[in-house]
Amino acid sequence: MEQGSGSSVNSDSFEDFLLLDQPRFKAAIVKLILTKDTESAVELLSRKYRLRVPKLEIGHTKGKKTALAVYSVSANSISFADQNYFFDPFVVLHEMYHCIRSSSGHHRGTEKNADRFALDYIENYSRIETTFRFDFSAIPTNVD
Ligand SMILES: [Zn+2]
Repeated sequence: MEQGSGSSVNSDSFEDFLLLDQPRFKAAIVKLILTKDTESAVELLSRKYRLRVPKLEIGHTKGKKTALAVYSVSANSISFADQNYFFDPFVVLHEMYHCIRSSSGHHRGTEKNADRFALDYIENYSRIETTFRFDFSAIPTNVD
């Protein structure tokens, strides 16, 4: 994916997003991913947490084929097994947690905390978008 090619949210509205209160910010991030604007969601999270924006890739390199998505600290990249996971808020946010944790130290955090981080965003979204039903029993367990 080329730098700057994907996101549809312009810089001005990025500032507006960053002024939202926490619940609305979290809901907005999930909505962006669900509306297939994962690039903007990742860029916004990167700004909020002052990260270098991770590269986003679809398709795994050898040896990581069983995971739905993988964050590489050394490459600062998230690679998704396929398009479906690229637009899955749980998977994207789980990986962003590893990215956030890795930038503040040397540890990418635990899987349990990555799941918790993702679910917190999704819960905020489902509180605001009451028609949205997230199937909490269908949370994938093989996100890396
Ligand atoms: Zn993980």
